[in-house]
Amino acid sequence: MFPEVYKTIERKYEDRRNSATYEYQLKKEEAYQRNPRLAEIDKKIALLGIQSSKAALISDDATKENLKADLKSKLTALKLEKENILNTMQICLTPHYVCEKCQDTGYITTTTGSEMCSCLKQEILNEAYNKSNLYRLKSDTFDNFNSELFSNEPDVEKYGVAISPKQNIEKIKEISQTFIENFENPNQKNLLFTGTPGIGKTFLSSCIANEVLKKGYTVLYQTSPLLLDSIFESKFNNKYNSTKENLFQVNLLIIDDLGTENLTAAKFTELFTIINTRLLNPNTKTIISTNLSLEDLAKNYDDRILSRLIGNFHICKFFGEDIRLKT
Ligand SMILES: [Zn+2]
Repeated sequence: MFPEVYKTIERKYEDRRNSATYEYQLKKEEAYQRNPRLAEIDKKIALLGIQSSKAALISDDATKENLKADLKSKLTALKLEKENILNTMQICLTPHYVCEKCQDTGYITTTTGSEMCSCLKQEILNEAYNKSNLYRLKSDTFDNFNSELFSNEPDVEKYGVAISPKQNIEKIKEISQTFIENFENPNQKNLLFTGTPGIGKTFLSSCIANEVLKKGYTVLYQTSPLLLDSIFESKFNNKYNSTKENLFQVNLLIIDDLGTENLTAAKFTELFTIINTRLLNPNTKTIISTNLSLEDLAKNYDDRILSRLIGNFHICKFFGEDIRLKT
């Protein structure tokens, strides 16, 4: 990552904190104007603070403990009074952060020290990759999922299975929801979506991405050709290592349109390394979607990739009429 990217992100977080503080101050001033008793309480609380530092200096233990207990009970009473006033006014006097987890600092304190918040990790990814990849995610949600767009008539001759496209898509929806629920579970398989274009593969992967983002994980969505091109471009601008690191470590990587890239031996190696490295990392999951059938995948890719896919991915076959014509 280049320093200017960090600077941009740092400024963004600073702006967020400033605006949270500014709004909080405004809200506070308004509340204090409506009820001046709040300002009096604050003054008294500040005074108690001074008195308690003085109390700490008293040498006689019994007097000190008595005084401390007295100050503590006064403080509790004042805090309670303030809370009651705010409740009656129906005001919540806390700053409103974009990310409550890190209060827009980008870092959280854990038992082992300070660590980067998932919101900051995602920001870095958004800056490092074309942001437009994530824009469509917002509108693709399970609430907008409509299985009625799929025919409820089984067509064994056409699709080779006895269930209808509608039953099939509902089953895949369930598989996707289980995938989200078990996202942290290392035994949960990855997902491979296969089927002709326009039958909901990208939509469903976006729905999953949305939910995984909400759970506080990082997500990267790329089409296979763009993903591989970005790796080769990164070699020319010294970003190779950070690009690879992002692809290895992002919690959920969605590789869309596998099979549309111009596959060369070098690209194949990169693709294999990404898939394989991620399979070895218990903190990552991958969704691959392709217009190719398993038979075509077997023809286009060598056994090493195919065996990884078959062994570690839940294979979901999408079928039905192109739903893009129906929306
Ligand atoms: Zn955060």
